Amino acid sequence: MNYGEEFLAEVVASLDDLAHVPIETLTRAIGRHGVCGWIDVAADGPVWTGDVHADRLMAAPLCSGCPVRRECLEWEFRTTEGVKLDVWGLLDRDGHEVAHQLWLWRRGSGV
Ligand code: SF4
Repeated sequence: MNYGEEFLAEVVASLDDLAHVPIETLTRAIGRHGVCGWIDVAADGPVWTGDVHADRLMAAPLCSGCPVRRECLEWEFRTTEGVKLDVWGLLDRDGHEVAHQLWLWRRGSGV
């Protein structure tokens, strides 16, 4: 999936108000409200195939409806140094890399 840079810039700008939220608060919010968490507990989620593309397609609707997807992306940018984790999240690897560069630039420039 290709994302335009304008779309990615909007996604990254939407994280600005989380810039000073402690990582522990983000972790707690994701743990309590992340859709993937309750699906694992309820065991009624999709059966993952092990194929990254197929699994990302199944994960995308979960993430798109998740109430803490901004917190999740902020957490990922802070903790993985731009390395995309597995299939979760709405961004594919290329989109994630571009978004992470934009995020670093915004945080560094104080936007
Ligand atoms: S955005 Fe996706 S990966 Fe992140 S907490 Fe929500 S469901 Fe899980």
